[in-house]
Amino acid sequence: MAYYTSRRDSGRHHLQIPGPTNVPDRVLRAMDNPTMDHRGPDFGVLGQRVLEKLRPVFGTAEPVIIFPASGTGAWEAALVNTLSPGDTVLMCETGWFAHLWKEMAERLGLRPRLLETDWRRAADVPAIEAALRADRGHEIKAVCVVHNETSTGCTSRIDEVRAALDAAGHPALLLVDTISSLGSIEYRHDAWGVDVTVSGSQKGLMLPPGLSFNAVSKKALKASESAKLAKSYWDWKPMLASNATGYFPYTPATNLLYALDTALDMLAEEGLANVFARHDRHAEATRRAVRSWGLEVQCEDPRHFSSALTAVRVPEGHSANGLRAAILERFDMSLGNGLGRLNDRVFRIGHLGAFDDLSLIGTLSGVEMGLRIAGVPHKSGGVQAAMDHLSGNA
Ligand code: PLP
Repeated sequence: MAYYTSRRDSGRHHLQIPGPTNVPDRVLRAMDNPTMDHRGPDFGVLGQRVLEKLRPVFGTAEPVIIFPASGTGAWEAALVNTLSPGDTVLMCETGWFAHLWKEMAERLGLRPRLLETDWRRAADVPAIEAALRADRGHEIKAVCVVHNETSTGCTSRIDEVRAALDAAGHPALLLVDTISSLGSIEYRHDAWGVDVTVSGSQKGLMLPPGLSFNAVSKKALKASESAKLAKSYWDWKPMLASNATGYFPYTPATNLLYALDTALDMLAEEGLANVFARHDRHAEATRRAVRSWGLEVQCEDPRHFSSALTAVRVPEGHSANGLRAAILERFDMSLGNGLGRLNDRVFRIGHLGAFDDLSLIGTLSGVEMGLRIAGVPHKSGGVQAAMDHLSGNA
């Protein structure tokens, strides 16, 4: 049985959702190796190597923890290791994923204080600063922000969030979700004073789903010593103790670590600055296409445009899901759906991970043809605008 979802007998499915992303052949080949003894003498060498190579991708000299889990697990790990029952957390509801993180916090017995947006822009930094200044008794124990909100295509300014915490002189921890930004959009755990960075394997890191991460500051580690939320699987302490020699307290996802080893090499070979510039360029070409079609990008503030994905609004009275279904049927291409209140209102084009100019033009061609097939009113010329941008900025 073939495990790709192609609806054609020949060829690959075009996976242009904003994660999981396309896994490069080199990474697939790395996974295709015999599983080794995770307590044997060779494993520690691999473990130490990947733990070390992860740090520059997070922009940190501090430890990065790897869980065999999806990103949701790393969200939970960030909360349960640093906080206690009843703690107040300031959360910015920038979209569906921020909403899910807030729901998790509630289920864990935390008290989220919510700063909402209209899901068309990123976290509201002045509102964060005002909330922190008003919190004279320092009830707020953590500020939680999703760096790149995958449901809307809006990227928050974590450097500015840090500056807001500093300006307010507030001691809260800063917890940041980089699940759809790490390895695609510039990120600096140490320089931006982030305490826990949460991430996942299946987007910018070009791996299949199955690994997730916590980068942990000294301040977060200190907080973990007195944090009272119940934890076992997610506990940093036994993990860090085993990681010191490259091992794990329970069975790690061995073959995904082979994949990670190779994917980190690929990012280092390209150079992170070049990786980010490639994503910026593809995102700009995509937005030019969208504007030329006469459609609207979901993100309204150019300072918050995401370089990992673009969410596109369909005109009133038209169905984004109908458009996606037509494109899947005709061109064997998956685009991201609208989530939560954006269901059927937007479709999302993923342009992150292992991606290049021709893949982008193919993707945009599928969208442009799909708009016509599905009868969504638009102007032609979007693909041309993207090609003009790419060929003029090679
Ligand atoms: N946070 C963001 C920004 C995401 O994009 C996702 C998934 O797409 C998640 C959290 C949840 O991660 P997972 O589905 O891997 O558990």
